[in-house]
Amino acid sequence: MSLDGTYDDGNIFAKILRGEAPSVRVFEDEHVFAFMDVFPQAKGHTLVIPKHSTARNLLEEEPERLASLILGVQRVTRAVRAALNPDGVVVTQFNGAVSGQTVYHLHFHIIPRWDGQPLGRHAGGGMADMEELKAVAAQIAAKIS
Ligand code: AMP
Repeated sequence: MSLDGTYDDGNIFAKILRGEAPSVRVFEDEHVFAFMDVFPQAKGHTLVIPKHSTARNLLEEEPERLASLILGVQRVTRAVRAALNPDGVVVTQFNGAVSGQTVYHLHFHIIPRWDGQPLGRHAGGGMADMEELKAVAAQIAAKIS
């Protein structure tokens, strides 16, 4: 999909938000929902999405929604750091298929990095063990402040 197009409310993140598809929740507030990426590029790979948005990407988002979204990203990133003690954290976001985007509901990736540990493939690795994901999500959730 290109940068242009219409929002498809059958996308997997919209289904997760409506409770029609499962997810491993980390955090939510009035504005954002954070959950574990099921094809993680590293332990603790978390996604943050706006709850009340039909933006497919950052370019389409209403400017007035951005502050609450990025505050949610920072809050969860801090919790990821506190829970997992990484050496660094990638916070990233893709717009359009050619950039690497595969799900067309605006989202940010939070990916912890450790010295000497290569980054897993984007949207192409194996599916995580659900019990392990739940355990990491609980560790991160416990550090939300
Ligand atoms: P992007 O390629 O930036 O659009 O990122 C989409 C991300 O969603 C990828 O990292 C996928 O691993 C992840 N993903 C796809 N389906 C699910 C799902 N059902 N639950 C959690 N993460 C998912």
